[in-house]
Amino acid sequence: MKILVSACLLGRKCKYNGGDNFNEKVAALQTGHEVIPVCPEVAGGLSVPRLPCEIVNGEVINTAGESRDREYRLGAEKCLAIAERENIDLAVLQSRSPSCGVKNIYDGTFSGRLIEGSGVFASLLTENGFRVLDVEDF
Ligand code: SF4
Repeated sequence: MKILVSACLLGRKCKYNGGDNFNEKVAALQTGHEVIPVCPEVAGGLSVPRLPCEIVNGEVINTAGESRDREYRLGAEKCLAIAERENIDLAVLQSRSPSCGVKNIYDGTFSGRLIEGSGVFASLLTENGFRVLDVEDF
């Protein structure tokens, strides 16, 4: 299988705070499958580290109140193009991220409350017919 994954799950230090979300089960996929890591936020031109963002009334905003919507959507489009080019079978994405979250995202108040919903990249993949799995369900 060809599996696209959030790059931070493989240990890439692309999280907003310079850390990663290394996941042993995801890393083990590299034996026997073709694993394609992407980070849509970095692909959209954002730096590491960067201020965290949430989706506020449909727009991606950071904790300083600045819009990062353009970067998030650009990065999601670039990574969608990779998914299409590679003809992936599945995407396994990091939970709760405003880009990669599949089931839940933060509610846009920067208070740690979760709501049902998905991030910009996960939504775009789903809209384009790709099978997307939250790493917590993997
Ligand atoms: S955008 Fe996705 S791949 Fe990049 S750090 Fe956030 S969760 Fe990981």
